[in-house]
Amino acid sequence: MDLGLRGKVALVVASSTGLGFAAARQLAQEGAKVVLSARSTETLARAAAKLKQELGQETAVLAIPCDVTDSAQIDHLVAETVAAFGGLDILITNAGGPPGGTFDTTNLDAWRSAIDLTLMSVVHLVKAALPHLRQSETPAILTITSVSVKQPIAGLLLSNVLRPGVVGLTKTLALELAPENIRVNSILPGWTATDRVDHIFEYRAEVNGTAVETERAKITNSIPMGRMARPEEFANVAAFLVSPAASYVTGVMMQVDGGSYVGLL
Ligand code: NAD
Repeated sequence: MDLGLRGKVALVVASSTGLGFAAARQLAQEGAKVVLSARSTETLARAAAKLKQELGQETAVLAIPCDVTDSAQIDHLVAETVAAFGGLDILITNAGGPPGGTFDTTNLDAWRSAIDLTLMSVVHLVKAALPHLRQSETPAILTITSVSVKQPIAGLLLSNVLRPGVVGLTKTLALELAPENIRVNSILPGWTATDRVDHIFEYRAEVNGTAVETERAKITNSIPMGRMARPEEFANVAAFLVSPAASYVTGVMMQVDGGSYVGLL
């Protein structure tokens, strides 16, 4: 199936590593013009070089630094994307996860920072991107959230509270923008083998006095498919959802979790 992504302009936020990078890579492979973004110029340059090395030096990829907690930087990111590639067809929102903790261990400053990182970043990105998406023939927005919006994860209070806000925003935007043919969906990833997840297992092993592999096994044993996702498995779904091939799919919150969520709906 041709996804119809060739020549489309895609802005993938927080994409120097992990899920964001995998989505950007898949879109570039499908022939989209891709903007990579993250805070660190050096990490971004490495990510862009890696992508070109893998897919060919002629790959249309641009790296623009942006901290998603700063709305002025977001405005600049979107303006630079449009200036470089002549428009915007696809926006994928993403950010690093907020810090872990329980209600007792989370202070008000951490709450405010997490609201900016996880929720307001998406609000600012959509506000900045919408005027340009409205000019596209095949506009699409994808938010990256977590399967925790269906089933909260112990010790991840801020994520458990704020990601459902992003899902509420995603669904509301899908309804409000459907008459304009702008599709808005979310992916709810389960455990996916990114570097960040490796660091989580290293941390747990240290805290629990166990081996990293023991901590990894605790998670993989709890997943019906018996393993974590590969980032490419997430990216395949992301590329489809933002592509013209998914032209009648909007307002969908799609788990990519190997069957981890066990509720009926
Ligand atoms: P990751 O740490 O590999 O990637 C995070 C990306 O966000 C990096 O490119 C980083 O540079 C960038 N980033 C962080 N803070 C930023 C900021 N303020 N401004 C701009 N860029 C910023 O993590 P990942 O595993 O790819 O996860 C991505 C998101 O998905 C996170 O929010 C994570 O909590 C969530 N998630 C991950 C999994 C998983 O198993 N990997 C599962 C569910 C949800």
